[in-house]
Amino acid sequence: MTSEKTACILCSRNCGLAVEIEDGKFTKIRGDEDHPLTKGYICQKAARLEHYQNHDDRLTHPLKRQSDGSFSQVSWDEALTDIAQRLLDIREKHGGDAFAFVGGGGQGNHLGGAYSRQILSAMKSRFAYNSLGQEKTGDFWVNGRLFGSQMCHTTEDVEHADYVLFIGTNPFQAHGIPNARHTLKEIQKDPNRKMVVIDPRRSETAKHADIHLQLKPGTDAYLLSAILSIIVRENLHDREFIKQHCNDFDLLEKELLEIPVEDYVQRADVPLEDVIRVARDFANARTACVRIDLGIQQTLHTTLNGYLEKLLYLITGNFGKKGGNNLHSFLLPILGNTDERKTKKGKSLKLTAYHKMHPIAGIYPPNILPDEIEHEGENRIRAIFVDSANPMLTYADTQAFERAFKKLDLLVVVEVSMTETARLAHYILPAASQFEKWEATGFNLEFPENAFHLRHPLFPALGESLPEPEIYTRILEKMKEIPNTFPRLQRLAQLEPKSSAHLGYMGALAVTLARHSHWQKYAASIVYRTLGKALDNDAAAAAPLLPLAIQYAQTHYAAVRRAGHQGNRLTLGTALFRAIMDRRAGTMLSKHEFTEMWSLMKTKDKRIHLAIPEMLDELRALKSEVMPGADYPFILMAGERRSYNANQIYRDPTWRKVDPHGAMRMHPDDASKLELVDGSRASCQSAGGRIDVVIEIDDAVRRGMVTLPHGYGMRYKGSEPIGPQINLLTSGTHCDALSRTPFHKYVPVHIYKINSEVTTTS
Ligand code: SF4
Repeated sequence: MTSEKTACILCSRNCGLAVEIEDGKFTKIRGDEDHPLTKGYICQKAARLEHYQNHDDRLTHPLKRQSDGSFSQVSWDEALTDIAQRLLDIREKHGGDAFAFVGGGGQGNHLGGAYSRQILSAMKSRFAYNSLGQEKTGDFWVNGRLFGSQMCHTTEDVEHADYVLFIGTNPFQAHGIPNARHTLKEIQKDPNRKMVVIDPRRSETAKHADIHLQLKPGTDAYLLSAILSIIVRENLHDREFIKQHCNDFDLLEKELLEIPVEDYVQRADVPLEDVIRVARDFANARTACVRIDLGIQQTLHTTLNGYLEKLLYLITGNFGKKGGNNLHSFLLPILGNTDERKTKKGKSLKLTAYHKMHPIAGIYPPNILPDEIEHEGENRIRAIFVDSANPMLTYADTQAFERAFKKLDLLVVVEVSMTETARLAHYILPAASQFEKWEATGFNLEFPENAFHLRHPLFPALGESLPEPEIYTRILEKMKEIPNTFPRLQRLAQLEPKSSAHLGYMGALAVTLARHSHWQKYAASIVYRTLGKALDNDAAAAAPLLPLAIQYAQTHYAAVRRAGHQGNRLTLGTALFRAIMDRRAGTMLSKHEFTEMWSLMKTKDKRIHLAIPEMLDELRALKSEVMPGADYPFILMAGERRSYNANQIYRDPTWRKVDPHGAMRMHPDDASKLELVDGSRASCQSAGGRIDVVIEIDDAVRRGMVTLPHGYGMRYKGSEPIGPQINLLTSGTHCDALSRTPFHKYVPVHIYKINSEVTTTS
């Protein structure tokens, strides 16, 4: 039995874990008190991680699809040689636009992303699709306009705010804030602090709140604009902050003053007096912040909602201060900046062939992908790599994905498990699990203190599975994009494996990449093959963290030193790198002063550009808008977070202690009209599809809405789908016009009773 440190990989908090392992299994999992941010906190989901590490869908060997649809085991060399040749043929014949990369990342495996995205460069393609493109890109787009770059991402200091507004988020179940349940409890027990929840469901968080505005689904933009209007009408906005930091407030103010507050509040169907109270108290609070999530990012007016929630903290001056919302630094650059108004070196952004969609933060929205594969044009997508993602279950419109993926000339899936998407692949390449390789998350999204946790491998890789850095580097070598060896760099790396500065190696790397500029895009694999070989404990995958740590220390020199790292401007980055490599419980990267937040702004004048013309147009258009789905009796909120659902990496259904069917929650009055009781079977029909569900009566749900959880529908060990396949109901075209984010939280449906019942829903 050994004791180790690692992190949970189930949500973006990535809580530090102290684990015991024996005979290749987790025997004990608890929160790690040494983790610099989570300090021992975990929720109930982490304790079940053995169900991720060891289960019967794990992949052990490369597999190739045969003509009869079955898979046969092949060697790595055979698989990668054939894949590389087929990629080169497709690139030669159809150009790079025929290739797309899908996924790459998840909640805890971002280190591999530095390697996997290189295949886009090798294919001369820019088409990267991932789940952020169906969740967060509206938010990133607004950040780009307000703060000057889509890489300017904001965080919220919920732990120190006097007044916290949760909109479309349920941190009690979904987390997303530091040590969520403890933090909620702290707010609740302090009489000087207030918590308000805006959510159509009386969520577990709403049950802790001082005020719950249980609005009608899809009316968030009406409610938020009404709150903003009350603030400016009553002159509660922070004029001094606005004068000092913002442009174009007059344009915004004019629009907000024209909001018909009473009409909008009526549309949202919440008490006007509560809305007025929230507007006044939020604006008057000493410190206030806003925390949002998919509840407003996957419903009507996605991008506008993101704009309005940011205006709440901006016009009240709750930005760049303790207890407010703040920008933060990144060590791993998980976002890009792709502003569709600007061209890069004279080149416009790459638009997709069919939908003419541009990327946001470098990401294309998955729900347009089936059309980009299926259209008749020569420039359709013909080859796809899917990495650490399961589009067949997690992207809108499962039927469209199945149809489209079957038309691909080449589908390669890099995965830990036999997923529903892997079953459609031409090749399945087995990846080592997240506890069998060096890994890390790029979700270090905190301010003023930010931390990073490099996880060490705990188990040997299962069977022939390989870590992603090795898989993608071998493909680049097979495609002859990079040579197999770099003798000079390897020699220098060996000479100074524990160097305090790695100066010789870094200098030689810069010279090599300058001489061979076409290798620059493969820097991760080159560093992996050279510096990586000199690192202890087979830590090659972590080698690209050296240049990132050097860059981070140069950019945030004072903040890195405040976090306790020693060194001068030449050596501080290396010291940070060594700390990341050595500290198994995670490392505090930086400790900022609040005034330093303004250095993270990317507008040229370092001011916030409040008036975004597209958003003001959309705000005006609300007045005449008719809510969609009037001919359907229910609005389904698809993808609810519950006690025992998680991302798709838990495949073995025995990990759940409750809710084996992923029941549909429905208000008792609605259930009684349909003659449904707890455990009844029902059929749920949307415009796109139909699934059978099990009913759970729940008076926390608003009348006229129903909910289903995400994280179900797997065919574990080839079984029938377990629980609801919610994306048989969702649509790729029912989406936000600007970001194309699908409206998973607003799916109009009919519910029909089926005349049989199950014995239990728990
Ligand atoms: S699921 Fe999230 S909150 Fe729960 S232990 Fe894992 S990382 Fe922490």
